[in-house]
Amino acid sequence: MSGVQLSRVTKDFGPVRVIHGVDLQVDQGEFCVFVGPSGCGKSTLLRMIAGLEETSAGEIRIEAQDVTHADPADRGVAMVFQTYALYPHMTVAQNMGFGLKMNGHPKAQIAAKVAEAARILKLDPLLDRKPANLSGGQRQRVAIGRAIVRGPKVFLFDEPLSNLDAELRVEMRAEIARLHRELGATMIYVTHDQVEAMTMADKIVVLRAGRIEQVGSPMRLYDDPDNRFVAGFIGSPA
Ligand code: ADP
Ligand code: MG
Repeated sequence: MSGVQLSRVTKDFGPVRVIHGVDLQVDQGEFCVFVGPSGCGKSTLLRMIAGLEETSAGEIRIEAQDVTHADPADRGVAMVFQTYALYPHMTVAQNMGFGLKMNGHPKAQIAAKVAEAARILKLDPLLDRKPANLSGGQRQRVAIGRAIVRGPKVFLFDEPLSNLDAELRVEMRAEIARLHRELGATMIYVTHDQVEAMTMADKIVVLRAGRIEQVGSPMRLYDDPDNRFVAGFIGSPA
């Protein structure tokens, strides 16, 4: 099985269980959105897939490889953080290439990958700028560029648009959708915004208190919610 598979994935913080044995298949090339109220475990689940958070029990597979306890760098995933995670003293090009540089990639290879990411994201004219001289949308593109240069099989986004204004959010949603079509990569996207979930997802995973309430296409969840929580969250009239 390709894509991302979670089997009975569990997370305990000390004595507190915050993820309760989650089973999920995200297919190769799918755009999967995790949605649910604040504190339901969206970020924790994403961080476990990224390897930034240890998995307490269960198994995580990426492209059929068991990566449950693998190093983040060995999972074939890249996480897109919010824009403020850019290094202020580095140029756009340096920000995008930094991870590769740390991993010892040759300069010419880094330059080629940065150029390719810049082309995809239309950042070419901005490569020598510092983050302070970019707009919010441009900074977010750089944050995405940092993920692209690593050529991941799976992109992980944790509320990447939450500190952008409404107009820019709409623009960046379209941008990320275009990126998904162009790269054909598996993407898992966390948001608490129902509109984002409904407009971007192939598959929506509704989480509540560390458990999956329902998984399905936007239409399915809208037309046929399993319960009132899903109906209320997705905004359908059940
Ligand atoms: P979401 O991203 O859906 O808002 P989180 O994954 O951040 O939710 O949090 C899920 C639960 O885990 C919350 O109850 C939160 O307080 C708890 N939690 C998250 N990180 C930690 C941590 N490092 N230590 C203890 N509890 C945590
Ligand atoms: Mg979160």
